[in-house]
Order: sequence, then C-alpha cells, then structure tokens
Amino acid sequence: MKKYWIITYGCQMNKSDSERIALTLETMKYLSASKIDEADLIVVNMCSVRQSAVDRVYGNIKNFDKLKKKNKKLKIILTGCITKYDLKKLKEKFDYVLSIKSLPHWKKLLKKKKYIYYPNQIKSREQFSANMPRTVLGTLSCNYLKIKPKYTTKFSAYIPVVIGCNNFCSYCVVPYTRGQEISRSAEDIVKEVKNLVKKRYKEIWLLGENVNSYSSNKVNFSKLLKMINDIPGDFWIRFTSSHPKDFSDELIKTIAKCEKVTKYISLPIQSGDDEILKKMNRPYTVRNYKNLVKKIRKEIPNLTLSTDVIVGFPGETKKRFQNTVNFFKETSFDMAYIAQYSPRPGTAAYKMKDTVSHQEKERRDKVLTEVLKKTALKNNKKYIGKIVEVLSEYERKNWLIGKTREYKTIKFQSLRSPTSLRKSDFGKFVRVKVTDAIPWGLKGHLI
Ligand code: SF4
Repeated sequence: MKKYWIITYGCQMNKSDSERIALTLETMKYLSASKIDEADLIVVNMCSVRQSAVDRVYGNIKNFDKLKKKNKKLKIILTGCITKYDLKKLKEKFDYVLSIKSLPHWKKLLKKKKYIYYPNQIKSREQFSANMPRTVLGTLSCNYLKIKPKYTTKFSAYIPVVIGCNNFCSYCVVPYTRGQEISRSAEDIVKEVKNLVKKRYKEIWLLGENVNSYSSNKVNFSKLLKMINDIPGDFWIRFTSSHPKDFSDELIKTIAKCEKVTKYISLPIQSGDDEILKKMNRPYTVRNYKNLVKKIRKEIPNLTLSTDVIVGFPGETKKRFQNTVNFFKETSFDMAYIAQYSPRPGTAAYKMKDTVSHQEKERRDKVLTEVLKKTALKNNKKYIGKIVEVLSEYERKNWLIGKTREYKTIKFQSLRSPTSLRKSDFGKFVRVKVTDAIPWGLKGHLI
C-alpha cells in the first residue's frame, strides 16, 4: 500500500483542510505513514500569511530532494494559502500544485504526471468584486467542504463555517489566496456537529477568517450559535476569529446566554494606534475597540480575552508603538498572538516602506510580551482556589494537561496517584481545583 505524509503550516483553517486532505487520500487507498521517509506522497499545506512559514517551506525542499533520491516514485504536492508570488517561485519545485478548493478532483488530477491547478488567484481588490461571481466561487469553495475530514482527535473538532475574507486589511494575503467570503449552509454545519456530538466529541471549534460575518439564508452567526447550542449533549462551542467591526450586540447577548458557548473571545486589535489602524485598513479606532470590550465584559463577566497584534508595521514610530503598549496595559488581555510585521508581496502594505528594523521589531515584541505576562498572570491568579471544568487532553511528564472552559491551559494531577487518570480519560470533562497560576496557565489537582 502507498503511504502519505502531510506537512501543515498556518492557522486552524489550514489544519482543518489537512484533515480533509487526509481522508481524500485514504479514499484513494493511501495509508498514513508513521514517518516522512516512508511516504510515497507528501502534501505540503503551506501558508503565505507570514514570511517565516514560507521560509520553512523552502527549508523543506532540500530534504525533499534527498527523499526523492531514496524513493524514486515519491511525489510531492503543494497546496494551501499561497500567493501568486510564492506560487511563481515554488511551482517548479513540486510535482503538483493543487488548489485546496480542487480537492474533490485530486483523484483525477493525481493521475497526471505533473500538474498545476491553481485557479481563482485574485490579483487585485478591483478584480475581487468585478470578476469573481459569488455563485461560481461559492460552488467551487463549498464543494470541498463537503468532503468529510479525518478529525485529528477523538474529542475536539474544527468546523469551517466561513471561508475567505472580504476585508482586505492592508498587510494580509488571505483575500487574495482564499478569495471572497463564502458561508457554509447552516444545515450542513448543524449536521456535522450533530454527528460529532453523537460520537461524544466535547469541543467544537467554528472556524472562519471572519467568523462573525457568517451569513447564509437569513442565518447570521448569532443564530448559528443558538442552533448549535440547542443540539442536546455535553459539549463546548468555541469560535475564532472575530473582527471587531462585526461584533454585534446580538452576538454578545447570544454568547452570554448560550451555556455551551465558552466565554473565550479572540478579538484581534492589530495595533493600539489609530493612525496605524487606518494604514492597516482596519475600520475602527482604539476607542471603538475599548468600548466594545467594555460592553462584552459587562455582559460576560468571566471572559477570557485574547487578541492579535502586529508590531513594526510601516510608520509605527516609537510613540505610536507606545500607544499599543498603553492600550495593552489598560485592556489587560489573557492572551495575545504578537507578530512581527513582514511585508507580503501583492498586499497594499507591500508598497509602503518597511520603516522598522528587524532588531526593533524584536524589541517591541519583547516589550509587549512582558506587558502581556503581567496582565495574564494577574488574570490567572483570580482562579486560585476555584474549581474549574477542564477538558483533559494529554499527559506530559506525569502531569495531565487540558484546557478550562475559559480556554486556559491547566496542568493537574490526581492527589491519590499521578497516573490515576489514564489515556482513556483523555477527551473527557473533569473538575480541577486550581492551586497555582503562571502567566501562560494554571496548575491544580483533580477533585
Ligand atoms: Fe486578513 Fe483582515 Fe481578513 Fe483577517 S480580516 S483574514 S487580517 S484581511
């Protein structure tokens, strides 16, 4: 039997796509390899969003050459979120370059000797609305989501609800690589969740580049959450990522009311300076964001708030960066994904002068991380002495590791015996008393 190996870079959406790729290959009678050297087919599911991920793909190419010398029949596919610039540079290095949206046709396409099938590359914002009829793109986009995924775990599943993005933040390649925003039908989503709940899945992640702009047949994201919340069963609903401009009052009330929707919100700010937000094409001000957080925290008191931020965006002077630092201190985040700006070819920001040096980006990253460490620790300390519900996930060095309902990482042991909770208990809800806190998590014992 032939074997496959998948290398995935990027966000949860790419991970979810890899789950669909895995099942597609298995229906083609490929088996999952236990190591890369055994593979007859390697799929690189790449991400052009950050330069670091692109560099890692280049890093792999040398290794592929060595593997091909050992296994003359080895074929390598490139897929994922790829800009036309990366595509141009990389396409000759792979046997196949296949759009993820063409996944339903891979069986046919892989019969060819060497093939590039990468339609729907959007070259400009203008072309986006003029030449990409929603129906045509929609059919193509949503078809691949009808393929069943091979879920990575037996208790937590990713479910894409919206793919693509219409926002054109000036630094981001997603609208060019994933195309126009398309929402999956609510019926399909609910059906998938029902099946997972039947199989005792405990954590359902609803995914989208901009999940709260979900809209399908008069069902908006709030209604979708309610529909999933109404499915009987013992499970949590999480979602990511949200755009501040689409976070409605209706959605806040829905999250507050729906008991299965966990009180964790990822709300990217991207910069704590209005001028930089404008240059990023983010249509809100820092004040708008703060007011939104105030409203959310009023309705959802035990909220875990996470954000994404870019340091060193073109024109971010030390003073403007200080505005982000002050904003971070004031907003007191639990988590943040801090990215150092890297110019992405094809985006509007690529034409701007990259004014901040690499060293200065590193320094700003460290400064923000230090602020985050303090606010996260302060927030985590509030849990000491409390009993929290935890989804146990895996074991490391005699500690069991899981996530609380509020999406805090927690390590815990049984007081009776560190090994009394075994692998068969992973993927179950347990109750843990919190005894200690660090910036990036909690510690406790089973009760
Ligand atoms: Fe990219 Fe902005 Fe869309 Fe997020 S909202 S995927 S950052 S364009």
